[in-house]
Amino acid sequence: MTDAAPTAMTAPVPFDYACTVCGEPFPAERFAAPGALCGCGASRRTMELAAAVLHAHAHGIPATLLELAEDAAFPPPRVLDLTLDAALAVTTPDRRVCGDPFGGGAAPPDGVAPVDLASLSAADASLDLVLLRDVLFWVPDVPVLLAEVARVLADGGHAIFQETFAWQFPEATVEADPAAEPKRRPAGGTRKPERRVIGADVLDLMAAAGLDGFGYRPGLAVDPHYRDLLLVARRRPRLREG
Ligand SMILES: [Zn+2]
Repeated sequence: MTDAAPTAMTAPVPFDYACTVCGEPFPAERFAAPGALCGCGASRRTMELAAAVLHAHAHGIPATLLELAEDAAFPPPRVLDLTLDAALAVTTPDRRVCGDPFGGGAAPPDGVAPVDLASLSAADASLDLVLLRDVLFWVPDVPVLLAEVARVLADGGHAIFQETFAWQFPEATVEADPAAEPKRRPAGGTRKPERRVIGADVLDLMAAAGLDGFGYRPGLAVDPHYRDLLLVARRRPRLREG
């Protein structure tokens, strides 16, 4: 026992990471690599978005989307998935709609149609989750998008925005130069960015739309310098009449 203690103090304990979609372990050092990290097709961004879904929708209790799908305690969420990430489809078979928010992107999965972000094809209060990736920098009108998200989410439902935010997360949004050249969207396709920086004022826009927004950094528990941030927006309950 006295021999073991100094070793434990000086040598970091090696451990594998586990995929938040399917649970398969993989070496932690591969987490920085681009592309699919797991046999299920999940990339780093897939796993971070899945972690946000588990945290927001399932109170952080199931460890993977697969566990969430198999746990009878959690009814299958009604999902509008606009990420074009096929690895998420594996465990979200009850997605109501999936779609391409801008068109012209990478080859979309089967059954994906272009989506009008200013007029989502879902009934009022009909969804538990809206998943968006690389949209806030590119969409022409953020308040219009947020109003649509708030309309389609059921009370207590969540929208998750995965973007490449600046770090530290700045206070104010900065519009892009109107003459800016089109850029490649990380989620696919090429488009002129509408914004150069997304700032914390986007949380005020969410609040105005009836969405309580907060930042979520999925790796913070294991790494205090973990930078990748997702924004989660929870649909505030609608006022009842009478
Ligand atoms: Zn996996």
